Amino acid sequence: MTRDQLSQLRREVDAKLAELHRILKPAFEPDPVLPGVVTVSRHRCGNASCACAREGKLHEAVRILIKFKDGYATRSLSDEEIRSFKPRADAYRRLRKARSNFGKWSKEVVELIDRIERERRSLEGLSEEDCKRPLR
Ligand SMILES: [Zn+2]
Repeated sequence: MTRDQLSQLRREVDAKLAELHRILKPAFEPDPVLPGVVTVSRHRCGNASCACAREGKLHEAVRILIKFKDGYATRSLSDEEIRSFKPRADAYRRLRKARSNFGKWSKEVVELIDRIERERRSLEGLSEEDCKRPLR
């Protein structure tokens, strides 16, 4: 067991703990969430004399894509609807991001624990014969 390596690993675990607080922040937010994504779509309207066809200035529409169990719905939003839907969709995105970051975090911590275990393994007290057997 090397002391230096072990204390380096412990510092990494400490850093991971601090990181966990940041990762889980969205779980403490009180805002309602809506499983949807707000996007801006750009399109041509089909009128040949319109600026979108003549000058390539595309029309912009804010749309929301909402996920349902059996599929999804998409529709364009009025300004009022944007104010109502966007914060909930944003809060949803933060929560999902927290979930996925936590998954990554957890895998990284498992790796750290495995490395700590390897550093701390000791065969002291085992028979000479058992000391030659590989540990699981
Ligand atoms: Zn147009």
